[in-house]
Amino acid sequence: MSDLPETPVSEQARHAGPVSSRELDPEEIPSTDIVFECPHCAKSLSIDQRGAGLVIRCTQCGEPVTVPIPEGMAIEDFDATPEELSAQLLNTRQTLSRAQRRIAELEAEVAAFAAFREETKRARTAAEEAVSSLRLALARTLREQEAAFASAKEALALAVPPPPVPEKAAEPAKA
Ligand SMILES: [Zn+2]
Repeated sequence: MSDLPETPVSEQARHAGPVSSRELDPEEIPSTDIVFECPHCAKSLSIDQRGAGLVIRCTQCGEPVTVPIPEGMAIEDFDATPEELSAQLLNTRQTLSRAQRRIAELEAEVAAFAAFREETKRARTAAEEAVSSLRLALARTLREQEAAFASAKEALALAVPPPPVPEKAAEPAKA
């Protein structure tokens, strides 16, 4: 079993593909690459010159990093060819697409929160209504008990006095 050689990436495909940072391997860095450090985690990154001025994600920490523009060069120097423009456009589109996905996620979260709040409000209203009707029922019961108690007192007042308690029968003799 032998190792298959890596399929070489054509120059065309390399230019058409998305701009992405790579881990630093000095032997592989073409002299045209921009080498810089991630400001978040200090990881050494290298990227093709057409990445100058773009925002990429650090391969190590994933934070967005702006690729520096090499000294003595202006960003316009990298906008010369249609290939470079299309690479930048693709990168921008990907960033935009990520942002749109994030916006959609946030909108879904906001909608879910609004629904939750509405549900909570409904539940609270229902609970308040239940408590209020319990209070009414309790008040009615108390009034009814008071009325019943008052009637009972009246009835007792009108009633003939109870017969005298019969005298206690003699206790049976102990065995
Ligand atoms: Zn980093």
